[in-house]
Amino acid sequence: MEMQRSRKKEKRINRYWLYLVGGLVSVLLIGSVVWTVWSKQENVKEHERKNEQLAKEIATNPDPKPEPAPLTKEDTAEKTDNGYIEGQAIPQEPSYIKGVLIASKKYPLPSTFAPGEDPEAKKMLNEMLNNAKKAGFTLQAFSGYRSYEYQTTLYDNYVKRDGKDAADRYSARPGYSEHQTGLVYDIGEVGREDVWLTEAFGETPAGQWLRDHAHEYGFIMRYPKGKEDVTGYMYESWHFRYVGTTIASEIFTKQSTLEEYLGIE
Ligand SMILES: [Zn+2]
Repeated sequence: MEMQRSRKKEKRINRYWLYLVGGLVSVLLIGSVVWTVWSKQENVKEHERKNEQLAKEIATNPDPKPEPAPLTKEDTAEKTDNGYIEGQAIPQEPSYIKGVLIASKKYPLPSTFAPGEDPEAKKMLNEMLNNAKKAGFTLQAFSGYRSYEYQTTLYDNYVKRDGKDAADRYSARPGYSEHQTGLVYDIGEVGREDVWLTEAFGETPAGQWLRDHAHEYGFIMRYPKGKEDVTGYMYESWHFRYVGTTIASEIFTKQSTLEEYLGIE
């Protein structure tokens, strides 16, 4: 009797446990299903909210473009006076003054002038780069001779992309690039490509070596700092023009420009 009662009691307790565990499991299961469905719906709602916002943005600004930087006073001055003589006729022949070929905004080159890279300039460039290397600087001429046709393509692409006013601020019009002479190189330091074509190159030891030694190889920094009004170009620490060692040394010693040397400033 006693045994039977206690076995019955045991069975009842086991059943309670079963109900309790079963109940807990069902609550967890149902809970997780409900949570999954709810969070999915929230995701959908969030998505819809974002889409709506985007649609609103597109409606108020149908062609989103990055805002151009506001023009500074200097920009506006350049814009109205970009140094070109508008309507100027391109000459039939290139201009030589005191026997020196000149290419500038005042002295454009004819489209037919296509001398290619000057062999003497090339030879002196290589000598300069070799000696720079001995001094510890690996320099590279990354841009040299550019034909009239190539400059046309370049300039036209810039105009298409940024408009004429903007393009005139950083690119020469065809016939006005000194690179068409075959006597010019844009130079930078290998490994410092981040400062190529920037003023900062002139502040690097490599840029300073070039500034101080280029004349020994017949090159001048063509557009130096502080001579913008004379040359018609912003300071370019990377643009070097071959004029031969005699003229280059004189220009370097006097800290002047090709325009001043030729008396055409
Ligand atoms: Zn250049």
